[in-house]
Amino acid sequence: MKITRVESILLAIPFEDHGGIWRGSGDRKAFQTLMVRIDTDQGLSGWGEVFTKNGELALKALFDTHVAPVLLGRDATQISAIKRELERLHHNFGRVGVMAFCVSAVDLALWDILGQAAGLPLYRLLGGAGRNEIPLYASLTRYGEPRAAADTVERAVREGYGAVKLHEVLVETVPAARAAAGREIALMLDTNCPWSLAEARCNARRLEPYDLMWLEEPTWPPENMHALAALRRSTTIPIAAGENAGSLADYRVMLEAGAVDFVQPDIAKAHGLSEALKIAALAEAHDVQFMPHCFMIGPGYVHTLHLAAALEVPLLERYYVELAAEPMGAAVTPANGRVSVPQGPGLGCVPDPYAVRLYRVG
Ligand SMILES: [Mg+2]
Repeated sequence: MKITRVESILLAIPFEDHGGIWRGSGDRKAFQTLMVRIDTDQGLSGWGEVFTKNGELALKALFDTHVAPVLLGRDATQISAIKRELERLHHNFGRVGVMAFCVSAVDLALWDILGQAAGLPLYRLLGGAGRNEIPLYASLTRYGEPRAAADTVERAVREGYGAVKLHEVLVETVPAARAAAGREIALMLDTNCPWSLAEARCNARRLEPYDLMWLEEPTWPPENMHALAALRRSTTIPIAAGENAGSLADYRVMLEAGAVDFVQPDIAKAHGLSEALKIAALAEAHDVQFMPHCFMIGPGYVHTLHLAAALEVPLLERYYVELAAEPMGAAVTPANGRVSVPQGPGLGCVPDPYAVRLYRVG
């Protein structure tokens, strides 16, 4: 089955988050997704996603010039060989970062094609049983102000979420959020790498009374596993990290250092679904919970759903905003804090052509 065509499609979907801080370009809040479509000579098309933030035309250009041309004419079923070739070809661009994001998207699209060729939904191709629904945690944008964050926690709980993650650095936000959530709701705090080890120790002590399910990426820089491990030894709060690591070897360092209770690879950053399966096995061997990171709304979100279903991940991240359109269609729109796993072959769904037409920016 030969690859005949590769296209990358950049969408910017407007969203509303009721007062969250906006750091993107322009006045209008919009969430970008860089989708990748790989076509084959047997009429099957697979979809992947490159991890994005904002203003990603440069990332699209990188994919179009350095990755897409390598794929033409290749056998789409040879996932490992293609992934390895891309990784070796471009390793001097760095093993963590934008080139890894591009390789990840290819790996994801090829898994979609393989699932379709096998006539199996991806989670079953990966050996999973019939788990039809995944509980989600509401992953809030940053509000920077305890009252606004607590109001959003309250809204998420009202909508049926049983778990909520804050993206805040102000410690005072957590008592306000806990009061809004009540005692039964799982609450997590993601700080996105702000603190020195000394600051993190001090703040963790202040956070301990609020029963956090985890504290995510509390220390800078994200790759300093020794600092994270030292923090973990000094606090009762479980530690989560992993979205900024690159490949299996990085996760080995993280796990062997004893740095985390939850390991969080992102399949659109850390070399795709193929690498995630290896990382999950390594995490199991270290008795650490595999908890994939997912800040995507495109095909990568659906791939992560299938991975979570296959590996029985207890809870999956979902960006908590009101999107102007659900790029992967109504079938994977969350309701009551849960989402259905598509049952068709491969991903079981494709990008909504209406959303693509309306919100394409590159
Ligand atoms: Mg995070």
